[in-house]
Amino acid sequence: MKVYADNAATTKISKTALDAMLPCYTQIYGNPSSLHTVGQEAFHALRDARRTVAECLGCESDEVFFTSGGSESDNWAIRGIALAMAKKGKKHIISTKFEHHAVLHTLNKLEKEGFSVTLLDVYENGIVRVEDLKNAIRDDTALVTIMYANNEIGTIQPIREIGAVCREKGVLFHTDAVQAVGHIPVDVKADNIDLLSLSGHKFHGPKGVGALYCKKGIRFENLIEGGAQESNRRAGTENVPGIVGMAAALKEACDNMEKNAEKLVAMREQLINGILKIDRSRINGDRVNRLPGNVSACFEGVEGESLLLYLDLAGISASSGSACTSGSLDPSHVLLSIGLPHEVAHGSLRLSLCEENTPEQMDYILSQLPGIIDRLRDMSPLWEKIQKESNSK
Ligand SMILES: *Cc1c(COP(=O)(O)O)cnc(C)c1O
Repeated sequence: MKVYADNAATTKISKTALDAMLPCYTQIYGNPSSLHTVGQEAFHALRDARRTVAECLGCESDEVFFTSGGSESDNWAIRGIALAMAKKGKKHIISTKFEHHAVLHTLNKLEKEGFSVTLLDVYENGIVRVEDLKNAIRDDTALVTIMYANNEIGTIQPIREIGAVCREKGVLFHTDAVQAVGHIPVDVKADNIDLLSLSGHKFHGPKGVGALYCKKGIRFENLIEGGAQESNRRAGTENVPGIVGMAAALKEACDNMEKNAEKLVAMREQLINGILKIDRSRINGDRVNRLPGNVSACFEGVEGESLLLYLDLAGISASSGSACTSGSLDPSHVLLSIGLPHEVAHGSLRLSLCEENTPEQMDYILSQLPGIIDRLRDMSPLWEKIQKESNSK
């Protein structure tokens, strides 16, 4: 059996999205900035896609800017606001310890450029405390950037409350909603969000395309200079097929959200219950307040990368956490941020599901996992040590 359970890394493009894209390569191939009919057809496709994305987010069309993906949107939002607010003498930014690297690395760089950054704790349950945010806001705070849902452990943050605090204190609020949009309800107005990042390939759209929502009237600097595209805010000929595909995928995801979530939660709980039967296993992050399709687990005495290889041999595609940390020997900053010791964080497994997965596939995963873990533990000096320590107690 083949099981793709790495949908937080990327998803398969949906048929709806692909069908919407194909004519943009073969018929509607004009440059949206061209004044002739072929160009205007592309312009209309772009306009319609922007309207669709705006409707899904609960904002106006002219508050949506298309980008090359989640990373660009995060970079743009944070740097764009930081540079604009620095002119008013505000150079403090608040975020959390377990953001995506697109956020954390941007903040690192801004720190070197003279900005000051406060990273909030996310505690054992992987959820930021609004009280901590209130205490961290200063007179010179320019921006709060807190992710909607974490990409590794799936925990959902109290975004509406965070947004309300920011509004009350007059501080701008950006959220990296790449894992949330299309999966759980997101409404930028009701959630008090000023800027939001999303990415097409996390909800069955194409890769290399995303969007930044920015509330009307907020000043932020451009990241990419050149032509007058995206209302003079983001230069470069628009990726019309990508944008059209992303909009179609987003509409499909939002239209089917409730139905999909119900199915995903059932499969997620099936996996979690099975995993917790394995000796010395644990589920990372809040049990309830998590993305419908996210299972994040740790197995003591197991090396996560080896676990992935054996699962792959069994036809199961999973992840040890973030695709961005693979190739590095350091455990994930997300798992360390929720207080896991290094050796436990090394034995991590993330299974991220989509609505195309089936309960039978979950049965299959659970039929393979315990045997693989036994085999790895038999070879592990760390497991031997854990066993000795527990026997001597
Ligand atoms: C995938 C992801 C990103 C990066 O998006 P790209 O479109 O791949 O650049 C940013 N933030 C989170 C939370 C993600 O999961």
